Amino acid sequence: MLRQSPYPLIAFDAALASVRSAFAPLPAEQIALSAAAGRVLAAPVVAAEGMPPFDAASVDGWAVVAADGEGDRAVVGILDAGSSAPVVVRPGTAARIATGAPLPPGADAVVMVEDSAPDGQGVVRVGILRAPAVGDGIRPAGLDYAAGDVLLAAGQVLSPAAIGLAASAGAGRVAVHRRPRVAVFSSGDELIGPDEALRPGAIRDGNRFALAAAAAEAGADVVTLGTLRDRAAELDALLGAAAAADLVLTTGGVSMGRLDLIKPWLAEHGRIVFGRVRVKPGKPVTFAVVAGRPFFGLPGFPVSALVCFELFVRPALRRLAGHPDPERPVWSVRLAQPVEHAADRVEFARAAVTMASDGPMARTTGAQGSGRLLSLSAANALLRLPEGRGATAAGEQVPAMILGEVRAEPEPAPHGAPNGP
Ligand code: AMP
Ligand code: MG
Repeated sequence: MLRQSPYPLIAFDAALASVRSAFAPLPAEQIALSAAAGRVLAAPVVAAEGMPPFDAASVDGWAVVAADGEGDRAVVGILDAGSSAPVVVRPGTAARIATGAPLPPGADAVVMVEDSAPDGQGVVRVGILRAPAVGDGIRPAGLDYAAGDVLLAAGQVLSPAAIGLAASAGAGRVAVHRRPRVAVFSSGDELIGPDEALRPGAIRDGNRFALAAAAAEAGADVVTLGTLRDRAAELDALLGAAAAADLVLTTGGVSMGRLDLIKPWLAEHGRIVFGRVRVKPGKPVTFAVVAGRPFFGLPGFPVSALVCFELFVRPALRRLAGHPDPERPVWSVRLAQPVEHAADRVEFARAAVTMASDGPMARTTGAQGSGRLLSLSAANALLRLPEGRGATAAGEQVPAMILGEVRAEPEPAPHGAPNGP
């Protein structure tokens, strides 16, 4: 039996660089805007019309000729929103107008209701109490954008505001990058599902569910999900999965155990890009290409699996989905306490980052064992601790990948403060 792994142990940044260069956005598809939230535009959205499409009232009031100044006007019509009534405003007259209605020909200002004194029902005469200036109360045609303007660029994510913009510009369908299809497999003879009776030696399969959820959160479609037993013949199921997927994910079976068969299988059926990385957790993480499809063999320890997903797989999926900047934001954060870490590898420590008065601050979330998902579920960041030194002192700044919402650090309760009024 081999006592040394045959796979070179490469630097974390080299591994990340080879993943980055292996992925490009998937082809575009045309989809209905109503199904496009969160997708990435593959082509710009160009305004077919201006907004507003005509000079429109921006207040409820009276369309008038500004040069008439204050005083009484004869009412010549009513313009509600959506109206196309043939009302013309001449000097000495006014038309009642609603917000959003088209300004009638002849008018050059809208006086708001609050500055008017309608006579009776306001259908015969109205008093204008304040002299308007030309353009008052009007949103001129094309104020927001003109026909032909690029409203959304390729690569932009369709946020609610972007969806609204596309809809208001008349784009009922949009070109977006296809969502990546992902096959997710756990592997191990010991694994049982969440509802099976616990038997001696069995471990509940958390990774299959965690990775499927993580892939969906990253914008992927999970197309297959399964558990592979530790037998080489079982792994051939991965070939079928690869045919249906843009990317295949496995967990477990990548270490040096007798039944860790994933790496030899990948080497036999494809090409291993890297099989070991100087990173903690996740040293045995494997990236390969089989049948033209990218494969990630993640370690079985639950924290290692999810941290490696964060480090390598999530950026790959988001790149496939078209994100020009697929990685998590990285902040410089101040350590609230000293942290010991691996000297021979880059270590990613689970941490809770809060915003203190002097900037973001990080506390690690308890014991960092690679089986302890508790430490990850309480974290909103991964601290990148450098290789080569083994410890980082309290107060030092370190880079942090931000995974979730960062809240303000709670104010310390003032001593002896009275309990309210
Ligand atoms: P392996 O990478 O297959 O050597 O597994 C390493 C450790 O992770 C073992 O203790 C496994 O029982 C555990 N493990 C492997 N796969 C899973 C999984 N899908 N869910 C939870 N724990 C797992
Ligand atoms: Mg195993």
